[in-house]
Amino acid sequence: MCGVIGIHSQSDVSKKLFYGLNSLQHRGQEASGICVYDGESMVLEKGMGLVYDNFDDESFLKLSGNIGIGHVRYATAGGSHEYNSQPLLAFSKNKEFALAHNGNLVNHKSIRKELEEEGMLFQTSIDTEVILSLVAKFYEGDIIEAVKKTMARIKGAYSVVMLFEDKLVAFRDPNGFRPLLIGESQKGEVIIASENAPLEIIGTDKIRDVKPSEIILVDENGIHSDFYEKDNREHCIFEYVYFARTDATLDGVNSYNFRRRCGEILSKEAPVEADLVIAVPDSGTPGAMGYAQESGIPFAEGLVKNRYMGRTFIKPTPEERELSVKLKLNPLETVLKDKRIVVVDDSIVRGTTSKNLIMRMKKAGAKEVHMRIVSPPVKYPCFYGIDTPSRKNLIAANYSVEEIREKIGADSLAFISMDGMLGATGLKEDVFCKSCFNGNYAVEPKELIV
Ligand code: AMP
Repeated sequence: MCGVIGIHSQSDVSKKLFYGLNSLQHRGQEASGICVYDGESMVLEKGMGLVYDNFDDESFLKLSGNIGIGHVRYATAGGSHEYNSQPLLAFSKNKEFALAHNGNLVNHKSIRKELEEEGMLFQTSIDTEVILSLVAKFYEGDIIEAVKKTMARIKGAYSVVMLFEDKLVAFRDPNGFRPLLIGESQKGEVIIASENAPLEIIGTDKIRDVKPSEIILVDENGIHSDFYEKDNREHCIFEYVYFARTDATLDGVNSYNFRRRCGEILSKEAPVEADLVIAVPDSGTPGAMGYAQESGIPFAEGLVKNRYMGRTFIKPTPEERELSVKLKLNPLETVLKDKRIVVVDDSIVRGTTSKNLIMRMKKAGAKEVHMRIVSPPVKYPCFYGIDTPSRKNLIAANYSVEEIREKIGADSLAFISMDGMLGATGLKEDVFCKSCFNGNYAVEPKELIV
């Protein structure tokens, strides 16, 4: 769970990278960084914290250059430390290599061990450094060849942007687990990013997805595309369920339309008599609107969100997670009192959010609370970059729907069916990774199973 961006331009890119990273802030709030090539060498600025807090006019002066990459981090592999923030920069063979990565490699431990045995030292504890080390190791004058040799070794999820001299390079794993898009402006400025929002905001046309297995090189001659091997797509369906922005269109699926259709479908699959439909904002909102429209039950705002709160999900203890949910969402008594409420959320993972919200909505006077979830039960961990805990902490891996209903204190509980959710994509089901729901892992995660 991270966001990446790269820009190749004829003018300074530092502020554009900054604004682009801002629009990707939802993909990671722990650390952020920008690296540019100033015509002679790389300049890197990064640190813990939000994009807005990490950069100011002084940093923009330092980061002056026409080609650059940026990263927002949410720790999935490697702890939350400053030394693990990205982009990473390496010096090798009289060259500088800078790289930013979204996704999780499933074989980074064994590659790292092998490289350490060859005498290589690592500066971070993240899988990304393995990618950087391999590219530098394999580089013998042709950067695309070095990337291909690297792709032959690494397995799992990777959407990567890289700076090499005056070139912007990007590559995506053959399964295309995590998103990556490219756009070009009429002036020939090229932007590559995890979602379409930064491309639209900074201003490019001809936006398209970087294809699974594709390697892109941008230099003064324009965009050059190459492929490592054939495309075997397995796009992460959880991007549309929860992670991506509501305005994201990734690999042919728009998340707003998807979430809204899931709500409509769930309303047919699990109808209930109620007075109001409310959403757990923000990712639950389109689903709740779809449920309301299809069922004819009015939509209302019943939970007020604190927009200044970060993630509640990654707090270390259950007590802290509960307090964070309270801070983040507060029930609106005047709407809920004496009403039968349908609450729509995008997912249940540990069950913390639903349990806490239902208890507080009832305290605020709700007569009945019917929970409707616009994704199937999350039963398996993700090894490709979404932060889902181990099976012992996943409520649906350990309890039936009826047991979960009882634990979270709902009057009724229903999840959308797998077919219902897949139908909402409008695409063939075999192009999606659904491993968090069904445990079918397209790339064997053996090394990571503890
Ligand atoms: P939980 O409280 O553990 O059941 O998590 C479910 C809530 O967290 C839902 O409201 C989701 O919107 C949100 N959520 C789901 N998956 C994630 C994730 N990987 N990271 C952060 N939040 C998530």
